[in-house]
Amino acid sequence: MSTHSTEKRQTTLRQLAERPLDLLVVGGGIVGAGVARDAAMRGLRTGLVDRYDFASGTSSRSSRLLHGGLRYLEQGRVGLVHESSVEKKVVHSIAPHLGQPLGFIFPVYKINGRPLWQMRIGVKMYDLLCNGRNFKPSRGYTKDETLGKLPQINTDTLRGSVRYYDALTSDARLTLDTLRSAVNHGALISNYTRFIDAKRDGDAWSCEIEDTLTGEKLVIRARAILNAAGPWSEKIPHSAVKLRLTKGIHIVVDRKRVTVAEGEAVTMVEGKRILFLIPWGERLIIGTTDTDYDARPEDVSVGLDDIDYVLHTANTTFPSARLTRADIISSWSGLRPLIANRDGTPSDTSRAHQITNPEKGWWDIAGGKLTTYRLMAEQAVTKIAKFLGAAAAPCRTAKEPLLPAAEAAPYSGIIPPPVTADAVRHYVENEWAVHLDDVLLRRSSWHFYHGDIPARAPEIAQWMAAAAGWTPGRTAAELADYAREAAKTYPSSKNH
Ligand SMILES: Cc1cc2nc3c(=O)[nH]c(=O)nc-3n(C[C@H](O)[C@H](O)[C@H](O)COP(=O)(O)OP(=O)(O)OC[C@H]3O[C@@H](n4cnc5c(N)ncnc54)[C@H](O)[C@@H]3O)c2cc1C
Repeated sequence: MSTHSTEKRQTTLRQLAERPLDLLVVGGGIVGAGVARDAAMRGLRTGLVDRYDFASGTSSRSSRLLHGGLRYLEQGRVGLVHESSVEKKVVHSIAPHLGQPLGFIFPVYKINGRPLWQMRIGVKMYDLLCNGRNFKPSRGYTKDETLGKLPQINTDTLRGSVRYYDALTSDARLTLDTLRSAVNHGALISNYTRFIDAKRDGDAWSCEIEDTLTGEKLVIRARAILNAAGPWSEKIPHSAVKLRLTKGIHIVVDRKRVTVAEGEAVTMVEGKRILFLIPWGERLIIGTTDTDYDARPEDVSVGLDDIDYVLHTANTTFPSARLTRADIISSWSGLRPLIANRDGTPSDTSRAHQITNPEKGWWDIAGGKLTTYRLMAEQAVTKIAKFLGAAAAPCRTAKEPLLPAAEAAPYSGIIPPPVTADAVRHYVENEWAVHLDDVLLRRSSWHFYHGDIPARAPEIAQWMAAAAGWTPGRTAAELADYAREAAKTYPSSKNH
């Protein structure tokens, strides 16, 4: 690391240890980031540690949608849809660079799902659940109109379609920009910093923490702790969380492979599940799957059976596209940290969140969605501020922009920025990038967007070496680590 970023990191770690915090957040995914921002904005002395990189868990592995969840409406979960629908608009308003409204065309078939008239009523209800007004009003299309929009669509028993609105985001960028906002409001945050254990000592917790870059241990005192460790949260000592982890994968293909109109995605039905085909600049993101997962969260990977299922669904909806494994530019897999309920299929498991207080000064937060992170944070911080007896200010996270516009640009957005040395330097100096894959996978998304990043990695690693002061040995080790990380995805790993 450059002297500058090493010094900044050492200063943060020193500050975390030197004076008791009001709140220590364990986990720097979207939920922990949202809590740190809210708590800091309300004037609490807030710290956050992440064992790996920020957003390296589920929060860089989602479908990247801010959505109410049309599917949950069908399941009768009206409260959940309302909550998420309001939040999708809130996130769009506080971070417009990370919320692009997107129409979703939902083709309706005679043999699959509900009749067209019911779907039309359903999407009108969906609009109303956004406190009366969605990004744009939904509507129905006849079969011919649907074909005009989606010329490659399967016409076998096609009745027509409906269009409703959600939004596309970048999950990792939303997490990182939320953390930048938290720091702007005084939060102390550190990645590659592991929470090991804590014991209650007087009116505070004494927390054992490890700087995983140096192996050094430190003690952080905090009056309250919030466990926001996503798929790892039931493993954290003192946690009372019980999770059901389900895996989902996505693939990325060239935009030209399926004709879709600008600003419109497609909702595809597969049995009782729905998958999405989402335009992302010059690419299409297609996913996702939903299968139970029991191994270590760190080991989640993209399997060939997952890929074939996604390809099969896309080819059933767009037969002439004839997508094959050879079309795949990149892929990712992630784990939904759902509140445990062993009954029903993974897709039936509720996406509702839960905030619990199993011990004095300890909170667990789990479940929920990227879309509802801000609300989850608001509810958690309100409870914690009450416990602390602090005269905490009211929550302002729904009103105050995430970042000033100039600070958000030019290296944060839904579409990756150009691949440049300047961008790499920015991520190292201003966004806590420590390793090569921090830049390639999460800060920039270049790995997922461009097919040639494995080939260009040596050049990009040289830029990072210059920005971070790496030796040739460290640069080679970083390239090997990136290759290992990439091997958990397809096409880097052809033989899962
Ligand atoms: C396939 C898929 C698609 C999805 N699509 C959507 C979508 O389109 N829209 C939507 O709203 N939601 C979606 N979700 C859900 C959403 O992504 C998750 O709810 C959300 O990202 C969870 O964030 P989190 O902060 O709880 O967990 P994570 O992002 O996993 O963060 C937990 C963090 O805790 C850290 N940690 C673990 N152990 C320790 C420790 N000992 N010390 C310190 N830190 C630790 C980890 O390193 C990790 O960074 C999707 C999820 C999946 C899997």
